[in-house]
Amino acid sequence: MALSNNLPMAYPKTLGSELVTLRNVGKTYGRGNKQTEALHGINLTIKEGEFVALLGPSGCGKSTLLRIITGLNNATTGDVLYRGKALTGVNPHATIVFQAFALYPWLTVQENVEAALEPLGVARLERTKRALRLLDRVGLDGFESAYPRELSGGMRQKVGFARAMAVEPELLCLDEPFSALDVLSAESLRGELMELWLGGAIPTKAVLMVSHNIEEAVFMADRLIVMDKGPGHIIADIPVNLPHPRYRKERPFLALVDQVYGLIVGKTSSESEELGTAPGETGATRALPVVSIDTVTGMLERVNEEPNDKIDIYRLATDLHLSDHAILPAVEAAELFGFATVDAGDLTLTPLGQAFADASIQGRKEIFAGRIRRVPIIRWIRSMLDAADQHRLDWDVFQTALALEFPAQEVTAQLDTAVNWGRYAELYSYDNDQSDLFIDADDVPLNVGK
Ligand code: ADP
Ligand code: MG
Repeated sequence: MALSNNLPMAYPKTLGSELVTLRNVGKTYGRGNKQTEALHGINLTIKEGEFVALLGPSGCGKSTLLRIITGLNNATTGDVLYRGKALTGVNPHATIVFQAFALYPWLTVQENVEAALEPLGVARLERTKRALRLLDRVGLDGFESAYPRELSGGMRQKVGFARAMAVEPELLCLDEPFSALDVLSAESLRGELMELWLGGAIPTKAVLMVSHNIEEAVFMADRLIVMDKGPGHIIADIPVNLPHPRYRKERPFLALVDQVYGLIVGKTSSESEELGTAPGETGATRALPVVSIDTVTGMLERVNEEPNDKIDIYRLATDLHLSDHAILPAVEAAELFGFATVDAGDLTLTPLGQAFADASIQGRKEIFAGRIRRVPIIRWIRSMLDAADQHRLDWDVFQTALALEFPAQEVTAQLDTAVNWGRYAELYSYDNDQSDLFIDADDVPLNVGK
């Protein structure tokens, strides 16, 4: 094993005793007939020395799982143990870092970190000592007396890390900690976290990180837990036996990234999959993949350039400068429209997808309109507007109806997506001034009683 001062090579750490034990854990949100089963039959252990990444499509329960392990949420069924003891209430040995860390704007950087230590009863002098040491470690030396508003997003997130690590948690939980940062800040903060973790500079015994980014997970973690939704469950547990530092262009690195892509993307919906029901009908309304038509069209055009109309999804993301976060819903949408199929990490255009990619602008709109009429939310919006006075309804009407089906934070994205698709297909339009959805007079007779 090569060792040098500025390039430490390290294998994943040796494993110690079990910190987290989940046995047959399930979680259901809501009550009555508006229940969502977020997790089902989760069995998972995390040991000292492990850096575990949780991956999977949006809504598969990653954040929920993290909240259960840190004690912020209760499991509905099953056992949640920490160091072999049933967990009750908030886990005092775990800390969680969220995507956008909330700092106290009226406190300086140093005071923000110290504030986390006060409730633990750490003496004032020790608080200051620890805060200064950690700020130095995350590279914020010289910014101790700055206020959050004076810092960039990346620096604020570093304060968040320092604050999380100041309490010296045994288990450091990270929920997509880099996804709100620009590319460079994210990369430098990843590097700093890996140095702290591998170098043993923090007393943290294990790290559990939720990620949307497969490359990031393979870069950092020793073990990848891949989840799927409907309800959230674990579909794979993959060891990453690559020494650190890892290089993204290395063959074993790329091979592993490809394998995980295949697992995640291969699980998205196909043409024949249940489309779900429309709002107001019995049964679950399936969420639309949140993606604009421009992104989907750009992706299909790119695949259409390939011999055999087939491309490795991992390469597709790179070519289109899309993050994993952005490519997955685009792939899901292409499958939903019947424009592409996914197999083992490759995306292949269907004959319909080829026809779409080759068609004129108007031709594309017609093909697309035919496809999305089958999608329950779109069908529902169109039929509401068909029936409405002047074929016009306020945005809030749809917003309110969808709020019964989706968590509040998802409703607007669902409706934005439905409007983006419907407008492109010329099924309905949106009036910005009045925030109304409406059917263009030209389109009404054509579509009545379709
Ligand atoms: P992920 O982090 O993988 O995107 P989440 O854990 O946020 O997934 O959500 C899993 C499922 O549980 C989703 O269907 C989501 O809509 C639902 N959900 C999450 N939080 C709540 C909540 N507070 N109330 C109701 N449903 C929720
Ligand atoms: Mg989440």
